[in-house]
Amino acid sequence: MPFHDPDCLFCKIAAGEVPADIVYSDDHVVAFRDIQPVADEHILIIPRKHIASLSHLEEGDLDIAGHILSAAGKTAEKAGIAASGYRLVFNTGPDALQSVFHIHGHLIGGQKMGWPPF
Ligand code: 5GP
Repeated sequence: MPFHDPDCLFCKIAAGEVPADIVYSDDHVVAFRDIQPVADEHILIIPRKHIASLSHLEEGDLDIAGHILSAAGKTAEKAGIAASGYRLVFNTGPDALQSVFHIHGHLIGGQKMGWPPF
């Protein structure tokens, strides 16, 4: 799989080809606000590398998984929800209603949530 898929929306956002409300970025990940938020704060965290879903992560990508998790805390801090709390959700596959096939963690917070989430 190429690092950058020219047909992938999130690859285009990572490359700056499609505008987004970016909250945090570094050499490995980009975090930007979801265009259709489901909570008071809803940010997507993506790797710059094109990987279709969590199910497509390979051994060599484990550092990328770490960068996403590390970025979640930094992004929550920047968004002002680190202390109040948040969730990081990876919709993966049809039952989870994944609609964009470039790994993204939904960082959701800014309000009290319920459990279970369905
Ligand atoms: P999924 O359904 O794959 O778990 O999540 C995809 C998310 O991407 C959805 O929450 C959707 O609102 C968001 N999304 C889709 N297109 C765009 C876009 O062009 N810009 C931004 N910022 N978010 C998008």
